[in-house]
Amino acid sequence: MKLYTLVTGLLGCLQITKARAEEQAALRTTQDYAKNVAIVGAGAGGASAAYHLSKFAAAAGIAVNITVFERNSYVGGRSTTVNAYDDASIPVELGGSVFVKVNHILNNAVKEFNLSTEDSTPEIKVPGAALAIWNGQNFVVTFENSWWDTAKLLWKYGLAPVKTMRLMRSVVGKFLKMYEEPASPFESLTQVAQDLELLTVTAATGEQYLAENGIGGTFGADVVQASTRVNYAQNLPYIHGLETMVCMAAEDAHSVRGGNWQIFDRMIAASNATTLLETAVTEVHRLHRSKRLSLKVDSTDRADVTSLNSKSYDDVVLATPLQFSAISLGSLDVAYFNLAPKKPTPRVILTTLPEGEKPGKGREGVGSPGFFSVSLLRPVTNPNTGGQEYLYKIFSPSPPNATFLAHLLGVESLDNGSAAEISDRGITWIYRKVWDSYPYEYPRVTFEKIKLDEGLWYTGGMDSFISTMETNALMGMNVARLIVDRWLGKPEKLGRVSEFATVEQT
Ligand SMILES: Cc1cc2nc3c(=O)[nH]c(=O)nc-3n(C[C@H](O)[C@H](O)[C@H](O)COP(=O)(O)OP(=O)(O)OC[C@H]3O[C@@H](n4cnc5c(N)ncnc54)[C@H](O)[C@@H]3O)c2cc1C
Repeated sequence: MKLYTLVTGLLGCLQITKARAEEQAALRTTQDYAKNVAIVGAGAGGASAAYHLSKFAAAAGIAVNITVFERNSYVGGRSTTVNAYDDASIPVELGGSVFVKVNHILNNAVKEFNLSTEDSTPEIKVPGAALAIWNGQNFVVTFENSWWDTAKLLWKYGLAPVKTMRLMRSVVGKFLKMYEEPASPFESLTQVAQDLELLTVTAATGEQYLAENGIGGTFGADVVQASTRVNYAQNLPYIHGLETMVCMAAEDAHSVRGGNWQIFDRMIAASNATTLLETAVTEVHRLHRSKRLSLKVDSTDRADVTSLNSKSYDDVVLATPLQFSAISLGSLDVAYFNLAPKKPTPRVILTTLPEGEKPGKGREGVGSPGFFSVSLLRPVTNPNTGGQEYLYKIFSPSPPNATFLAHLLGVESLDNGSAAEISDRGITWIYRKVWDSYPYEYPRVTFEKIKLDEGLWYTGGMDSFISTMETNALMGMNVARLIVDRWLGKPEKLGRVSEFATVEQT
């Protein structure tokens, strides 16, 4: 039902009314050149901006040349895979791994580009409970077969799980209005959040928001906090209520087979943009006495740097937000978790804090468990040896050291061992990725500007509202609509709110 409403909403945006067609005809006579737009960043925000800009411009009869600048050697940004054992048939998501049913932009793109998806938690025939939550001392809850065992939760936490899911659905319902008129397109994230009654949600911490809604007991600290830790590496007293609710919206989580980055790759291809990889933008400036903007790129390998630096653009979209965090892997040791020797360890272990331990913030937030989550992705066959092995993913605030990994995985203990040493002792493949992943989602009531200056647009403000692939893609689509509306001479909704251009990042 929601999907249908959204599709109608999107088609509505593309529909060209008679008045609009006349407006365009007039425009075409005065505009005999194509618009030039630079997009900085080829992640979800930049790719969606390119894709929607080309669609909206085509529907408005405006020619547009889009150039995407990306400092990495690949498209996808924080949505990217790495191949286990360097084998392309075993891709592993490093960043944005799953999306859900209500992520309309991503799901529509999957259909349009004929990509196939897979369940994010496929049945794997490996012994052990499906999921458990570890507080550094003991498992506070263990789910034997499925991720969300309602009967078990009700027995342990009373009505709190049901109330939380009800609350989450009501918040998601408000958020989905951001896709449709009159909220869409929005010139101010702060204003749209206020109009949709979401500012009260971002103003509270996750802990406060649950309490305000009558959700008490230990369900928040045990289960909801495990979810905010695995998704955003943050504890309930420090993450805002909206991100907390997003963490609980995990129904029907799935991913694109082979890597979610393919959505963004196809979006950019469909926009006919020129993509310049390994090309970092270092400066955006306005040409003297001009409405046009120019960029400075830093790419010693490019022969055309001078020509790129001399180009000018009607609009520039900055789709380059804030980042941080880390990952790694192994094969878990029952002794580490005080389990009986023959009991298999759970396949997914999230963490929370033991009773009485004060939740820390920032890197300290990890507390005594020492890691945010460790999950068995799947059993794999090592192409070098033909042996059956387990592929694990670990999230932690700093690179797990060799001693910690040795204990966790139950391999020979090493004093001051390096990662290279440990890989000789039972770990066949290690990949460490340091992410600047997401901002600390502290409660707040103002968000970064979308229009930084005339012709200069920013999608990254979404990160401190909700940091997901879908929401950043929504920002890309929103900015594309605002740009084309401005080209068509549509009036701005204008400054009903004072905005701040500060970016909170630690
Ligand atoms: C570990 C991790 C797990 C996550 N899990 C999920 C999940 O399961 N589901 C989900 O929906 N989201 C998840 N997220 C969040 C999601 O990945 C991000 O919110 C989303 O991908 C961000 O998209 P973006 O386009 O805004 O930014 P990015 O993907 O960061 O893209 C920005 C791009 O800009 C480029 N860039 C930056 N500066 C410059 C410059 N000066 N010049 C040129 N290029 C530049 C960068 O290289 C990058 O490619 C996760 C993130 C991380 C890190």
